Amino acid sequence: MVFESGRNGPDVVITGMVHGNEYAGGHALERLRRTAPVPAIGRVTLILANLKAFDRFDRSAPMASRYKDEDLNRLWHPSRLNSEEQSNELERARELRPFIERADLLLDLHSTLWPSNPLFIVPPRRRSSDLACALASEAGLPTLVLTDLGHHGGSRLIEHARFMAVGGTGRSCLLEAGLHWEPQTVDVMEKVSRRFLAEALNVHLQGVAQDKTQPVRLAVVTDNVTAKSAEFSFVEPWVGNTCIPRAGTVIARDGHDAICTPYDDCLLIVPNLRPKQGQLAVRLARRTAVHLNS
Ligand SMILES: [Zn+2]
Repeated sequence: MVFESGRNGPDVVITGMVHGNEYAGGHALERLRRTAPVPAIGRVTLILANLKAFDRFDRSAPMASRYKDEDLNRLWHPSRLNSEEQSNELERARELRPFIERADLLLDLHSTLWPSNPLFIVPPRRRSSDLACALASEAGLPTLVLTDLGHHGGSRLIEHARFMAVGGTGRSCLLEAGLHWEPQTVDVMEKVSRRFLAEALNVHLQGVAQDKTQPVRLAVVTDNVTAKSAEFSFVEPWVGNTCIPRAGTVIARDGHDAICTPYDDCLLIVPNLRPKQGQLAVRLARRTAVHLNS
């Protein structure tokens, strides 16, 4: 759904349900739609990304409707978009592509299967980190801005060339807003989206928010921990973004191996508390005082 001001200005896009079962994003977008968010200048586009997957939602198997053929959030590299391959999600990505290619600012709403404190995730571009910091600097919103170097398995929406081009202008940011299917996750998504719309022009023109009422925490992913065996288990049911103070703390066991934190103040990012063999179990992140520049 597109809301046009009729005047030149930033092209602002909010996406939800890129993963079909994350319907908190659908609720948040519906709340926004009802308020008809016509901007003073520019354009706002709200996108429900994977309704075909959601159509198959079944309460008894809620994870089965994350996607239909493949993960829509791994397809955004030109090598996939321009390929001859066909899938339900590739078709949808190609449909949405014109809206993404013209976006100056993108907010992509997500939720998690396991408990995690909300956080922003940005690709390794300073302009996107600035966007997330602008969102995170309002009291009551998530304070952690995490930069990573991509996800194994393919490019996410926030890594589309529009946002990755060196010297480009498109800014993108992903919000992990909390647990799937929890009402408060919708509230977090809505608050962040409203902040995003309110500060869009400031961020677009200056890279900073006008109103800042809380400090932001920056972190960078340093390690992906994959379950090497079927016996992988965490020593505690860690909540996402937990900070482990001491290096060398055992956080999980994998067969005969103990998985330890490699440095002090190590953040555990969105742990998957029951990873299958070969799956990503947790990502480790280090606090940093400066942006990862590029
Ligand atoms: Zn998701």
